[in-house]
Amino acid sequence: MMNKFLGLTAMGIFAVSTMASAQEAEQPWIVDRFDDIKVIRYEVPGFDNLTLKEKQYVYYLSEAAKCGRDILFDQNFKYGLAVRRTLETLYTEGRNTAEAESEEFKAMEKYLKKVWFANGIHHHYSNDKFTPEFSEEWFRGQLALYINDDNRQIDNDLLCRIIFDKELYASRLNQKAGVDVITASANNYYEGVNQEEVEAFYAAMAAADEGNPEPISYGLNSKLVKDENGEIVERVWHIGGMYSPAIEQIVFWLEKAKKVANPEQRKYVQALIDYYRTGDLALFDKYNILWVRDTDTNVDFVNGFIESYGDPLGRKASWESVVNFRDVEACKRTEIMAANAQWFEDHAPINPAYRKEEVKGVSAKVITVAMLGGDCFPATAIGINLPNADWIRKEHGSKSVTIDNITYAYAKAAEGNGFNEEFVLREADRERMRLYGKLSDDLHTDLHECLGHGSGQLAPGTKGDELRTYSSTLEEARADLFALYYLGDEKLVEIGLIPTLDVAWAQYSKYIMNGMQTQLSRIELGKDVEESHMRNRKLIAEWCYEKGKAENVIEIVEQDGKHYVVVNDFVRLRELFGELLCEVQRIKSEGDYEAGKALVENYAVKVDPEFHAEVIARNQALNIEPYGGFVNPSYELVYDKKGRIIDVKVCYDSQYVEQHLEYSKNYSFLPTMN
Ligand code: ZN
Repeated sequence: MMNKFLGLTAMGIFAVSTMASAQEAEQPWIVDRFDDIKVIRYEVPGFDNLTLKEKQYVYYLSEAAKCGRDILFDQNFKYGLAVRRTLETLYTEGRNTAEAESEEFKAMEKYLKKVWFANGIHHHYSNDKFTPEFSEEWFRGQLALYINDDNRQIDNDLLCRIIFDKELYASRLNQKAGVDVITASANNYYEGVNQEEVEAFYAAMAAADEGNPEPISYGLNSKLVKDENGEIVERVWHIGGMYSPAIEQIVFWLEKAKKVANPEQRKYVQALIDYYRTGDLALFDKYNILWVRDTDTNVDFVNGFIESYGDPLGRKASWESVVNFRDVEACKRTEIMAANAQWFEDHAPINPAYRKEEVKGVSAKVITVAMLGGDCFPATAIGINLPNADWIRKEHGSKSVTIDNITYAYAKAAEGNGFNEEFVLREADRERMRLYGKLSDDLHTDLHECLGHGSGQLAPGTKGDELRTYSSTLEEARADLFALYYLGDEKLVEIGLIPTLDVAWAQYSKYIMNGMQTQLSRIELGKDVEESHMRNRKLIAEWCYEKGKAENVIEIVEQDGKHYVVVNDFVRLRELFGELLCEVQRIKSEGDYEAGKALVENYAVKVDPEFHAEVIARNQALNIEPYGGFVNPSYELVYDKKGRIIDVKVCYDSQYVEQHLEYSKNYSFLPTMN
């Protein structure tokens, strides 16, 4: 039900260079730029040092990771595959003709690039439908040229309405207060049912399961629809059910992976296969328990219906996959943290009744990602904490990872982009960020994932679903506050995680600036903040600004017509983080919906239009795309003369367009309508 990525995409990472002009210079880490997106390549250091079996395991799991791409397109939008396939046909047919030079064609190419990036026609972050920059007239001409009865995916008129009608399917995920969040959202998790029906359906399921100490995550792997008799039923995602052709391929590669797995890995790979075959969520829990116990493994993976950010009710999970292995050197950091987990819990500035008496199974490591798939591609998390089921986390613990080669790639791609020079007023703050930016980001992510999400406990009688549409934002706020509070604790110096509290102050300056100001550049003018990680950051920053106003803890300084957000008192700010953590933990522990709603609605949503316009203008002048995502490396099996696999090679020559065309050609298994 919770957690996951910190959402510190491109904007969140500090430039490590102070040169302001390198953006124009060659940037070998950026492979493509369009609209508000930059596409970055990442490397997989250490891959060559894996054993042959480990390399094969990575290879097979990577193939499995690519096989679920269509599922996500369909989950995001009922006609997502139809739009993608039609555009790909027009693009590949047209790109070698003279038409390819036209503005209209280039605008369609840009639109298609955005569709690939978002796994659909709605922005991956704002959830708003894309506005095409080519005309319907031109587009219909292209359809007439290249779409015929053999390759038609969708009726042309419907397709044009989907692309050009602003009002139709306007938002993938609409959580505005007062709307029916189910019927107002264009995702494909529900059809023909409204919010009231959905809530009643799952309330009845939960009631039947009342008292089960191992509650099933009902609804996680299904679409909810009405059948021909008007009965509400689930269409479950499994072999033989919805999405079967793609899941069969995923299982095919998991079977291969199983053969090169070690005995521990084999157990949960088998459990995952069993779950995919049946759709039985109890088997998914079994898989998670086996998986979370295996903390020794070097190569590890996520593969399944995992995170529920795309469902306005936080129930249905999107398909994703991450294949990774341990970054041994960087793991020393998280090992220290895990060893001190109980100390952190015992000293948390919250009501002692809501502290965990015994922190179990904190397993944290730093990983190197080898392949991203589904909802982790092309945009990805930089930290993951799984599994999500509260009872498994409580009874068996959770695995928490931070992804070092991805943050490294972000940092490299941001070098010299001039961001800090524009938005950070004081040289002392810039200097701290320059020295400690990467370390403070890494530690913030580690603390958030490794300890933050896992901390605290519910009051007796609280179920955990009381906060409804506010739960994601409040959960992220809780984890962030835990991280921010402890980042500024002398304990971190004492146990050797940071050389000086300046590391924390670097993060504090940046976090507040980002939460109040710079992250707004990602939001269209006139819109509110919707995404839960962004809401969380705004909530924390604005709350601390207001509460510390009398003491001038945070100040908005105006200079030469520009506004700067500056932290004046780091020590007092840390106390404010602690106070807010106490309140957010209370809200979660007691399931206090009204208090949670008030916090989010008062601090996290509304944007001052003038302030907003200024941020956007300054950011645009820097020419920095606010979002980043990735191309995957490619892997190749190497055989000897007898046809035995003797090695796996990794290559970094992938280009954005070619990679997506290749995935659509070789890893596309679903029919257009599912
Ligand atoms: Zn989180």
